[in-house]
Amino acid sequence: MATVIDGKAIAADMREEIKADTAELVAQGVTPGLAVVLVGEDPASRVYVSMKEKACAAAGIFSDEHKLPAETSEADLLALIEKLNADEKIDGILVQLPLPDHIDEAKVLDLISPKKDVDGFHPYNVGRLATGNPLFQPCTPYGVMKMLERTGVDLKGKEVVVVGRSNIVGKPVALMCLAEHATVTICHSRTQDLPAKVAAADVVIAAVGVPEMVKGAWIKEGAVVIDVGVNRVGEKKLVGDVEYDAAFERASAITPVPGGVGPMTITMLLYNTVVSAKRRAAGE
Ligand code: NDP
Repeated sequence: MATVIDGKAIAADMREEIKADTAELVAQGVTPGLAVVLVGEDPASRVYVSMKEKACAAAGIFSDEHKLPAETSEADLLALIEKLNADEKIDGILVQLPLPDHIDEAKVLDLISPKKDVDGFHPYNVGRLATGNPLFQPCTPYGVMKMLERTGVDLKGKEVVVVGRSNIVGKPVALMCLAEHATVTICHSRTQDLPAKVAAADVVIAAVGVPEMVKGAWIKEGAVVIDVGVNRVGEKKLVGDVEYDAAFERASAITPVPGGVGPMTITMLLYNTVVSAKRRAAGE
């Protein structure tokens, strides 16, 4: 029987700390500022953006919203990014993806100043992470690391198996675990004998996007299981990438879905914004 790693509680604690740090910065005359850029009417994107705005407001962070029509030209969007790069009140710039088809996403993301890239997706920041000297780390995998840290899981010398190799979750979380001195195996759709790989892991991190594909029976007795997956099944039910009930019986600790990794992503966006504001306050 596992301990349930309560992402909501960890995120709530971190948001209180972020709020306190923000208040200290405001007292020094530096209000952390996050620019959020949304192009178009995608309903899911609108929901994410409004969640981010509310989270900023609750933490005392200034959120500078730019809601642009779907027909906004690439040139106009690039001009806005340049303006935000130069704006001293802005510590972080977030462009909500996906962008409309006529806009080259990579061109837009590459123009964001790496010093304001609180999403951590700029190639400069990816390179900094890969070389073990991170400036900004992407929010979801960074949230996974904070959860492990706050659960008291020491990764040094442990076998970590990451299932999934995406640029937003699998690859960066693998690099972060490597930086913590774990022995890391990255699995993907062409991996042979995935059950054996997972069975060897002290820590399993699943970021696949396939409901319950990591079976509970594969989990080593006493392993820690972090489930990044969020999959809608039927009308309302959300499930992870791990077969939760069976994994719960074997793991020593496990994240639920929902209420596990999910609440950490926006928390880490606020965290990165405040880190950036601290650098501004220090004149860096
Ligand atoms: P992607 O679709 O970009 O990547 C999925 C990865 O899983 C790929 O590397 C793919 O392999 C691998 N994969 C797919 N099928 C299998 C299989 N049968 N066996 C082994 N590996 C497989 O997904 P993301 O990384 O963006 O997201 C993963 C999950 O995490 C999703 O459920 C998503 O909703 C969730 N998520 C949650 C967040 C949050 O909680 N805040 C944030 C971001 C994501 P290959 O490369 O070979 O195709």
